[in-house]
This record gives sequence, C-alpha cells and structure tokens, in this order.
Amino acid sequence: MSFVNGLKCRECGERYEIAPVHVCELCFGPLEVEYNYAAIKKTISRELIESRPPNLWRYRELLPLDGEPLTGFHSGFTPLVKADRLARALGVDELYVKDDSVNHPTFSYKDRVVSVALSKAVELGFDTVACASTGNLANSVAAHAARMGLRCFVFIPDNLERGKVVGSAIYNPTPVAISGNYDDVNRLCTEIADKYKWAFANINLRPFYTEGAKTYGFEVAEQLGWKLPAHIVVPTAGGTILPKVAKGFEELVQMGLVEDRPCKIYSAQASGCAPVVNALHRESDLIEPVKPNTIAKSIAIGNPADGYYVLGAVRKSGGWGEMATDKEIVEAIQLLAQTEGIFTEPAGGTTVAVTKKLIEQGRIPRDEAIVISVTGNGYKTIEAVNDAVAEPHQISAKLSAFDELYANLSQEPAKQAKSA
Ligand SMILES: *Cc1c(COP(=O)(O)O)cnc(C)c1O
Ligand SMILES: [Zn+2]
Repeated sequence: MSFVNGLKCRECGERYEIAPVHVCELCFGPLEVEYNYAAIKKTISRELIESRPPNLWRYRELLPLDGEPLTGFHSGFTPLVKADRLARALGVDELYVKDDSVNHPTFSYKDRVVSVALSKAVELGFDTVACASTGNLANSVAAHAARMGLRCFVFIPDNLERGKVVGSAIYNPTPVAISGNYDDVNRLCTEIADKYKWAFANINLRPFYTEGAKTYGFEVAEQLGWKLPAHIVVPTAGGTILPKVAKGFEELVQMGLVEDRPCKIYSAQASGCAPVVNALHRESDLIEPVKPNTIAKSIAIGNPADGYYVLGAVRKSGGWGEMATDKEIVEAIQLLAQTEGIFTEPAGGTTVAVTKKLIEQGRIPRDEAIVISVTGNGYKTIEAVNDAVAEPHQISAKLSAFDELYANLSQEPAKQAKSA
C-alpha cells in the first residue's frame, strides 16, 4: 500500500503526478513528495518500526515507494556512537557521533538516498541509472546498480581522490570524468538527463532521492530512545541532508513518535567552499556561488541546489553555521580517530571541527545533548591525511633492532588501558 499522494512544488504548491520530474513547470521551484500523513499516522508506531530489520526501510511508510524496496536491505541503521572521550576533549557532557562512515555497501550517507532513488527508478521503468557526483554518490549508484543489474553511468569532476575513482570503477559502470568542478558536472548532467532520459539519482529522481536522507534523522531519534537531540551538526554540500534531517524530525513529531522539543540544527562547511554558511553569517537569503578550493571534495559544491532550504531549516531551528579551514579539518579527523577510533573523510572532519568551534563560541552549550554527523569514510581519502600521520618505524627483523628502537622512543610507556 502506498502512502504517497503525488509531487508538490515547494514554492507555488502546484501538484504533479508521480513521475521522474523535479522542477515545477510554473515557477521552476523544486518538487517534493507529498504523503497522506493521516493514513500513515493510523499505521505507524514505534513497535512496528522496531519489529523490522535494521535498515532504512524500517521507516518505509515515510518513504516514497509504491511497491517493495529493491535495494538497500543492509543500508542505513548505522551506529549512533556515544562519544565520551571526544566529549571530554571538547569539554561537553553528552556527545554522539552518527556514523555513516560504515554505511553498507559504500561507506557514506549516500547509500540511503541511492537505495530510495534506484528502487524508485526501477518502479518507474528505467533500466539505466546515472548521477552527477563529488565521489560518494558515484560509488553508491555504481554499487547498487551492479547488484540490481542496471546499466550505469557516473559523472564526476576530474580531480577526485583515487579511492573515490576506483571505488566507482570497480563496479564497472561507465565512469566519466569531466574537466571542471562539481558545478560544471551538474550542469552537463542536466542536459544529458534531458536528452537521454536516464534516471539521474540527483536530477530527475531528486524528489525521491532526497527523501532517503530523512532516514538519517529518523535513526538519530530512534537510537536516542525516541528523542530529538538538543543540537545536531550536519555538513552541507548540495543541501540535501540538512533540510531532510529537519523534515524527518518534524514528521516523527507529527506522527506522534517523538515528543516535540527544540532541536537546533547547524550547518558545517569548509572555508574553501562555504556559500551557505556565508549567507547565514550575512543574514541574507541570497547564496552567492563560490569556486571551491578545499580538501573536503565530497562537500565542495559552490552552487548548492538546495542551499536556500538549508538556510530556512537552520533559521527555523534556531541554529547557526560555521566553517573550518583545511588545517582544522585534518586536525579534527585526527581528533575523532584518536578519541573514538572512527576514521572519517574530510566531510566528517568538517563537522567535528565546526562542532568544536560552535562549542568554543558558546553557540552550543556544554551541558546539552549534541549529535555530530559523520557522513563518509576516511579510507577513501587517504590523500587528505597522508602527510599528517607518522610513518612507521623501519627496522630489520631482529629483536636487537626493536630493543634499540624501544630504548630511543621518546613516547611515554603506554598506561594500562582503563576498561570503559
Ligand atoms: C554528499 C555528502 C554530504 C552532504 O551533501 P548534501 O548534498 O548537502 O546532502 C556530506 N558528506 C558526504 C561525505 C557526502 O558524500
Ligand atoms: Zn511551482
């Protein structure tokens, strides 16, 4: 049974039938899925959700399929890690990391949105799927397409990390690297989508794709014991995940699954690509596009499609935004790794660095529950931290060689690890 009414323009309210369309013909506003919330409310409950397997489809009433899901049976339901050692390092009482660096199967939050987009693509009759990507989306579309047996094209900028390039190519899609940045890739893909009529996850399927991002918010609330956190810091690239986390929280309240209480939402961007945070700081509604220059390539989108809705969601929540330099990002990646044993890519380093900054500024109080969004995996972006970590000590395979090394180590002997 489907709980979807159709598509509706976010700006003028014009309604459309379910189809692979994403822009309003009247006002060029983005289209969004409209649900029959009254019917969902009669069906959904905490118990029903908890009775289902630990993947993103446990919230299926609030996702836009008519039929059964076709992929993503192990995607989502990633750990919400209670981060006590990082909390101590940042001087706060209660801190969590929502860890999509271990999302199945391609180690980023994109496995959520792609599970929904590609299930919908097949439902709509497509046999070819594609995307415009900063890397993680290409990895995820290529992997899910492989297991679904779909033809696949992925379009990426030509300056990506090797891990992201190989992490798509291994699934044997047709990968296309374009000279230029993500914004150039996206512009070209809009034309290709028009001409070739393929299912572009984040273009013509965008209304369905973006809905998958709500599950990140649903899980945070469920894993906190069906509660909203007081503060959540979310990275911003094209502006999908942040407003959808906000929408996810609102839907949980509306469905009576969590109590309504204030949750401030903060946008994190890299200083080398911070069009949304700049607009927040200027208190402006106008997002001035920038030319990205940062190691945080997965969130380097200079002209974010949904940036305007990030501004709205952040302001409505009473939150704020901050940016982090490449140096702060690298330090934050190391801090997270060395306190919590989680290795994230620069996007996650950005949210950790920005959280630290917001706490130091007094924007986030030290005695309320904070969630940091970690959206991608550090093993894909070795380049970013390669020069920041120590090389291994090189010795011959002799005990005397190790004895000599050990005697010369400046490091203190390790203290007995305390059991947690
Ligand atoms: C895509 C992506 C994001 C967020 O992008 P939005 O377009 O704002 O949803 C964040 N982190 C990583 C690692 C990503 O790949
Ligand atoms: Zn419209």
